[in-house]
Amino acid sequence: MSLLAVDEALNRIIKSVKTLDSEIISLGDALGRVTAMDIKAKLTQPPFAASAMDGYAVRFGDIDQPLKLVGISQAGCSYDGVLKMGQAVRIFTGAPMVAGADTVVIQENITLNGDMVIINDCKEKGANIRAIGGDFNEGDCLVGKNSKLDARHIGLLAAGNVAKLCVYKKLKVTLLSTGDELLEVGSQISPDKIVNSNIPLFKALVEEHGAIAIDLGTARDTVEDVKAKIALVDNVDIFVSIGGVSVGDYDIIQDVLKEEGLKVNFWKVAMQPGKPVVFGDFKGIPYFGMPGNPSSAYVCFANFMLPAMQQMQGLVPNGFKSSYAILNHDLKAGSNRANYMRAIYSQNDQGQKYVDGRASQGSSKLKTLADANCLLLREVNAPAAKKGDLVKIFLIKP
Ligand code: AMP
Ligand code: MG
Repeated sequence: MSLLAVDEALNRIIKSVKTLDSEIISLGDALGRVTAMDIKAKLTQPPFAASAMDGYAVRFGDIDQPLKLVGISQAGCSYDGVLKMGQAVRIFTGAPMVAGADTVVIQENITLNGDMVIINDCKEKGANIRAIGGDFNEGDCLVGKNSKLDARHIGLLAAGNVAKLCVYKKLKVTLLSTGDELLEVGSQISPDKIVNSNIPLFKALVEEHGAIAIDLGTARDTVEDVKAKIALVDNVDIFVSIGGVSVGDYDIIQDVLKEEGLKVNFWKVAMQPGKPVVFGDFKGIPYFGMPGNPSSAYVCFANFMLPAMQQMQGLVPNGFKSSYAILNHDLKAGSNRANYMRAIYSQNDQGQKYVDGRASQGSSKLKTLADANCLLLREVNAPAAKKGDLVKIFLIKP
């Protein structure tokens, strides 16, 4: 099979993954979820005209004379009379406006003489009043469909008295690692073995992006063990295996999966790292076969799995945000594969980005991945670049 271009591989993935079904949840569980319909206000906010300040409710036409203090309107408990000429009512922030009054004078601008209020400064009729519906009205769309809810949305929806809402179901991703060399983190380390870092990495990536990770554990490099593990793949939205997708004698996962029903959409993409990535359909479940080297697997996540997750979650499938940065150094010409280099960008006070991609790029290395804050793209057959040239980057940390 020839190498597929990154864009074509991504197109194929996006064409074949579907947005999940929706469900109704409580507002208390909605942080990080994605709305499956426009969410509308169930009330008008503020529900009544209210004072925006602590002060005195008055009639603007009266302010040049001493006014008689006749009552109080406080938050949660209004003044139930009607303000007459020559009167003022003490009023506090959030309290309902007093009938007959049209202005609130802040308390710093009055002098109190017994029960007489003398206004020292008030320039504007209608000052310091929050209008009814000044924030939003009942039936207004508060949060549009396909929005990922953050803390501000939760506050807004609470103010709109939205106790239940319709969101896309939570994405479930099952993870399987393969390899006789793998031990779980915290194990007694023995010769020839390494710690399984990809499962913790992918579990964290999946959770960071609002999905549920289900760890199937590690399959040894035998047909029986791989079969036993893949029999556990059930009731999930994405299936990811890590390791064993290359061409070594022990890279058996693809063949075993094919025997069990995997339909391969593509294998091998013109990129570096991450060339041997597999994408297909395993019994109706989108399947990613990630290479075992951690940085390769990470780039496959960034380029392919994240956009798939976003599409399934009801989001725009655009992966990491891209930007442009000025190179801090020369770079040699690119190869016939797009190269996603671990790099570090910084930004000056004018927002201009500079990028350094001189870190060691071995695909087994995790430290340079953790130190990076972006991936620097070298397009297929990119000509040599000079310090000062503009290059495309993908922001790991915006
Ligand atoms: P493979 O794709 O299985 O040939 O693995 C490529 C490299 O990645 C080998 O050096 C493996 O030891 C390593 N590797 C595979 N799986 C993992 C894993 N889960 N965690 C850390 N390294 C891994
Ligand atoms: Mg392996």
